[in-house]
Amino acid sequence: MDENKKDKKTGRKTTYSPYIPQGVFSIGELLELVETLKNEGAKTVKLGGEMVFVWDETGPLSGEKAEKLRWDANDFKAKHIRPVKLCSAETFCQNFKQPVISLAAKLDEKFRKAPVPSKLVIGVAGCHRSCSEPATKDIGIMACTDGYEIMVGGAAGLRPMIAKSIGTFKTEEETIEIVEKVIAYFKKDGRQSVRLGRLLEKNGIDHLLKFLKAR
Ligand code: SF4
Repeated sequence: MDENKKDKKTGRKTTYSPYIPQGVFSIGELLELVETLKNEGAKTVKLGGEMVFVWDETGPLSGEKAEKLRWDANDFKAKHIRPVKLCSAETFCQNFKQPVISLAAKLDEKFRKAPVPSKLVIGVAGCHRSCSEPATKDIGIMACTDGYEIMVGGAAGLRPMIAKSIGTFKTEEETIEIVEKVIAYFKKDGRQSVRLGRLLEKNGIDHLLKFLKAR
């Protein structure tokens, strides 16, 4: 096992990130890993990306069995707001400038699965190191000393775009309010299957800023 990281301030928390080549391993290996680290006292797991279970032959669960699962399935194709992407944040990393786990949870609860003209991804990072890559998200939020900086119009994929900053907002509430207005703008002016960044390329960022001021 690689060296654990100690919390510099309290000396208590530790983290361990196992190297899993290509992020692919068997259910048996996953169980072994979880069991081993549980026995070593680990309490929480932070996933860096999607977790995808794969069936060799029989195909995934369906019908009643699928409905009984406690976890809602991600839908990677729907035109709706995707689950919020979050960096390792305050529970797992010492560099955060503001707490962001609660902000990300509130954004997720309020907006996930809301219908929008095209896929929309929100990324939240605890500092400008940007481990969740907010500059390539439709709406990116980075915590900083003064609050939360919001960027809009980023994307990865076939036509990557870098998001533009629209300001820094002091509180979680203000930040959520601005995100809600940006989504309202996208719903009002967006075209089917056109990402927010393309809409802003066409309309100009000032068009969005005027909309935000007027609401
Ligand atoms: S973005 Fe900052 S707070 Fe988040 S994991 Fe990276 S270094 Fe840590």
